[in-house]
Amino acid sequence: MATYNYFNNLIFKAKGKNGKRGKSGGKRILYRRVPKNGDKLSILGFGCMRLPVKEGKLDVEKARDLILHSIDHGVNYIDTAWTYHLGENEPFLGQILAEGYREKVKLATKLPSWSIEKREDMDRILNFQLERLRTDHIDYYLVHALVGTLWDKMEKLGILDFLDKTKAEGRIVNAGFSFHGSIEDFKRIVDTYPWEFCQIQYNFLDRKNQAGIEGLRYAASKGLGVIVMGPMRGGKLTGSVPPEVEKIWREAPVKRTPAEWALRWVWNHPEVTVVLSGMNEYSQIEENLRITDEAYTNSLNEIELQLVDIVEQKYRKLMNTGCTGCGYCLPCPSGVDIPICFEVYDNLYLSRNENEGKLIYAAKAGGIIRGDILGYASQCVQCGQCLEKCPQHLNIPDLLKTIAEKFEGSDLEIWEAAAKETFRKVKS
Ligand code: SF4
Ligand code: SF4
Repeated sequence: MATYNYFNNLIFKAKGKNGKRGKSGGKRILYRRVPKNGDKLSILGFGCMRLPVKEGKLDVEKARDLILHSIDHGVNYIDTAWTYHLGENEPFLGQILAEGYREKVKLATKLPSWSIEKREDMDRILNFQLERLRTDHIDYYLVHALVGTLWDKMEKLGILDFLDKTKAEGRIVNAGFSFHGSIEDFKRIVDTYPWEFCQIQYNFLDRKNQAGIEGLRYAASKGLGVIVMGPMRGGKLTGSVPPEVEKIWREAPVKRTPAEWALRWVWNHPEVTVVLSGMNEYSQIEENLRITDEAYTNSLNEIELQLVDIVEQKYRKLMNTGCTGCGYCLPCPSGVDIPICFEVYDNLYLSRNENEGKLIYAAKAGGIIRGDILGYASQCVQCGQCLEKCPQHLNIPDLLKTIAEKFEGSDLEIWEAAAKETFRKVKS
């Protein structure tokens, strides 16, 4: 078993296209090594989930310019998935990479684990993905959005055999998984297969949520490259920043934008290989590229780190629940997924997007992307068993009542149907 060592993650710099100064002012992007295979990946990866949309469809022209511009400036990790833009994303990417860009990047896509019903589905979907992406191999292939129950199902359906065979045939080069479950399940999955990499949600509000810092360190200690998604919690740490938080950033001795603070904080971790940013505007690309040449590991000082801690505390006070996502309250005998209910409710405060909140609530608490296991707030029978387990001393049953009222109105069935359409769609 590989042992993680910070020297495996040495940092390299490279110039932009042809070594010329680009729009990003001639800044040079940093690269970090994947410990198991030595691949040199740009610390900024392009996440295609949030590519721009026009009239309900992928804005192909703008998306093409954004991606190729990023590659021209040194980004070499491009992340897509079967489901993004309801299946439009992969063929679009295949088309633009065929313009002489395929060999310049490491291409990542994902097997929609929640859609798999039999072993043959895995081969069928991968083959279709190769066709859509116009390539004969996927550099980084992930089992998408795992939680413990989904992993158990995938194991029974033969995922280990599938990964072994497809790697041996060269259809996939590196195997990994993306994850949204508990730390216990995360470690179990890391230990089940000789993965090259994994992808976790990580930002300064999610240190104890899902895999969190413990999972990040665990994966790195086993030699896995770690791709971080959600460094800005889907834009919620940078969109409409609450005035109380903005004041802290404004008065900081070092002047940085909220996005820069969020990204620099994640890149500061030596265990992190690539940070995915869902960039859909030039200004975001420019801002992200601008800071990529300074984002060395352990480059934030104590005062800067303390400042991020203060901002985290402020967010927690401002958010609806104060839940850290630690999961100590689980299992609930009635099956309520307490951390998920609280996460969705807190994100609603940050995004103020009620429709998005209801869709995500139906998808996550309604079991649509979590192996058909319901974890709705309304399942709480007020038994009180979780109360003494919560280190934040939250009144969990009361909060769940509020959440059920907020998200489980008469329109719940509509949101469940929309979530199924969004997350389960499999074209064949
Ligand atoms: S009070 Fe509600 S959420 Fe807490 S353990 Fe009992 S049923 Fe579960
Ligand atoms: S409710 Fe409390 S115990 Fe449960 S995840 Fe949140 S902070 Fe942790």
